[in-house]
Amino acid sequence: MADYGLIEAGGTKFVLGIADEARNIHARHQIPTTTPQETLGTAVAWFKDQGLIPEAIGIASFGPLDLDRASPTWGHIPRTPKPHWTGADLVTPFAKAFDCPVAIDTDVNGAALSEYRWGAGVGYQSLLYLTIGTGIGGGFVSGGTLLHGLSHPEMGHIRIARHPQDQNYPGCCPFHGDCFEGLVAGPAIKGRWDASLSDLPEDHPAHAIIAWYIGQAVCTFQAVMEPARIVLGGGVMHTPGLIELVRESATGWANGYFNGDPAEIIVEPVLGDNAGLLGALALVLDEEG
Ligand code: ZN
Repeated sequence: MADYGLIEAGGTKFVLGIADEARNIHARHQIPTTTPQETLGTAVAWFKDQGLIPEAIGIASFGPLDLDRASPTWGHIPRTPKPHWTGADLVTPFAKAFDCPVAIDTDVNGAALSEYRWGAGVGYQSLLYLTIGTGIGGGFVSGGTLLHGLSHPEMGHIRIARHPQDQNYPGCCPFHGDCFEGLVAGPAIKGRWDASLSDLPEDHPAHAIIAWYIGQAVCTFQAVMEPARIVLGGGVMHTPGLIELVRESATGWANGYFNGDPAEIIVEPVLGDNAGLLGALALVLDEEG
């Protein structure tokens, strides 16, 4: 079986793996995210040490990314608050070192595609994956194809109605203030209540407020795309009881209008610890067709 080099590129760590198309992961390794030169160089060196002769390489990366194939900066990070990484070229070091095709997309698009192929989306025609953690991102798959416009969707940055008991916090998005991400991502929760949601007591009003926002966003995406499955992942969603509150909230916002009951279509991710690498594998297999 052919081997693939897989990279889950995160803001604090890169997870590297070698796998075949049957999803057997033969080796994995983790390195810290420092500068592009050092991190990408270390990644190339690790794959070489493993004796990898890859069929292709798949990268599931933090965003934003330039995913326009016609662009001279395809596979680059156009802008990021992360020091050193604005303008970083994630593709060329691997393409040069291994002389093979490289597939790249966002980590959330990788997660959406892998859940669609092998997880919560099996047996369904469409799936939306939302990650709610340090930031918020979304990926949508319909009939096996990921949604792309000029680049990848930016679902975390939609406008959202303010909760009546949450009128004062300005939001933490550097571009939009109180967009969805600016109100609901981990730093926005810490910014208001000085704790992560899972560390706040069960009866703290933050739980209902955050679920109210997520339910509203889910309902908006349901109106736009009508996904058969909506998978909610990311660190904030690890809060016990939150997904039930989100189902209730989305059901209220939908008010019986849409095809599919939010209480049934909102689910947890199925793929566990290897979700990031499987995302990279899904992207590379998708590219091969
Ligand atoms: Zn924003």
